[in-house]
Amino acid sequence: DHIEVVRITPFVVQTVKRMEALHPDFAFELDLPEQGCLVKINPLHFEQILLIILDNAIKYSEDDKRINIRSRAERRMVSIVVQDHGIGIPSEELQYVFDRFYRVDKARSREIGGTGLGLSIARNLVQHYQGDIQMISVENEGTRVDVHFPDQQEG
Ligand code: ATP
Ligand code: MG
Repeated sequence: DHIEVVRITPFVVQTVKRMEALHPDFAFELDLPEQGCLVKINPLHFEQILLIILDNAIKYSEDDKRINIRSRAERRMVSIVVQDHGIGIPSEELQYVFDRFYRVDKARSREIGGTGLGLSIARNLVQHYQGDIQMISVENEGTRVDVHFPDQQEG
């Protein structure tokens, strides 16, 4: 397991740049600390988590194609928040989206495509590093994903 101390800000910037190139119709708005927080993690795992969340934000957005990404250091944890303004998730379904193969609205998701595994993989990875992942969503307004990792203090 190739665990490294990953500096969040440049890593997120680099990953978002690649997503931007693939999805030029989207506007990614970044709010990241200049110094950049540090997280001890396999960088491939961190990238995978980010890509799963960004892929969802893109897939489940319609007209409003702004995606906000921010990060903060807060009380020994680092937060990474991805907010979209897409179709959202009905409140009664929100509790199931981390389940393997679960997809909201079978007909709708069949059109969009996917296996329903992304978020369960993301949650397993996050928890492997003593982190947590939470979702808040309002149908037809958008979805926000909050990821927290223990802050690897500098020095
Ligand atoms: P996969 O990621 O495996 O290709 P998927 O996107 O369907 O397929 P998950 O990423 O696990 O699977 O997400 C589960 C379900 O949660 C999705 O099918 C979708 O209904 C809902 N969902 C996830 N993220 C969002 C989001 N940002 N906005 C609206 N719905 C979402
Ligand atoms: Mg997905």
